[in-house]
Amino acid sequence: MFNVMHKYGFFVVLACLLVSSGRGAERQLPIAPLAGQQRVADIDYRLQTQNTALCAEPAFMPSFQIADERDTRVFLTLTDGPAAAAGLRTGDVLTRINDHVAAGQNISDLIDAALDKSGDVALTLADGRALHFTERQGCGFHIGVEPGQSLNSYADGENGNLTTALVKFTINDDELAFIVAHELAHNYLRHKERLDKSHVTHGLLAMFGKSAGLIKQTEEEADVMGLYLMARAGYDITKIPSFWARFGARTGTDILSDGTHPRTKARIALAEATIAEINTKRGTGARLAPNFYPQR
Ligand SMILES: [Zn+2]
Repeated sequence: MFNVMHKYGFFVVLACLLVSSGRGAERQLPIAPLAGQQRVADIDYRLQTQNTALCAEPAFMPSFQIADERDTRVFLTLTDGPAAAAGLRTGDVLTRINDHVAAGQNISDLIDAALDKSGDVALTLADGRALHFTERQGCGFHIGVEPGQSLNSYADGENGNLTTALVKFTINDDELAFIVAHELAHNYLRHKERLDKSHVTHGLLAMFGKSAGLIKQTEEEADVMGLYLMARAGYDITKIPSFWARFGARTGTDILSDGTHPRTKARIALAEATIAEINTKRGTGARLAPNFYPQR
């Protein structure tokens, strides 16, 4: 879990893993994203900026990330984002952000302040370049990557993470987009709020009774909504039933299922039914959103 989570969720903890020595030394070290981090960031960005119409509260999304709230270096830029288009690159050092001197400031707060206003960002870099660009709107969520050997992912209401193992398990961007979209869907659908209100038990007791049923319902909704978010962002939803088959074969959820997650066969069937539903809606021009999703 992240210890410090800003509005747009910079990789505070991951940065700690990348820069192990003291603050003075860390500024001299090169920085590099974790394996898969760029792909996940790009997919997260595309899914959100293509699904702004479904957001309860649209927000300007940063198209670049810093590694630490006090680090003036650019950690990564989103491949198709306005920052990259304006010329911003990993390793660039920020000296001014919208007329504020960056050194010694909380960089995350400066970026948040720029985005809260209008999405217009003006950056001055240590090499003298001045860049100006306007960010796009998304839902203000952030899905990232964390080191991990198990095939896991989670969402906490605003943000979420996939393990590096899960990123590696996917065989194309469509499968990876589905996992990111599934976690985003939990946030779009405010599942954490719903489960908290229902006092759902997490952990061992969640395997039984009411809690298991409620968690399973949120999982099914996230599976459905994830496919809609994918489809609206132009990903290939027909790749997902075979993803579930591979995932089930690897994780053995049919044998070990604890009742909180649907079984593999049910997930495949739900994916196929949802794909058919999406295709029908595309044909008729109906709103491309799950039937249970509220009108915005
Ligand atoms: Zn889920």
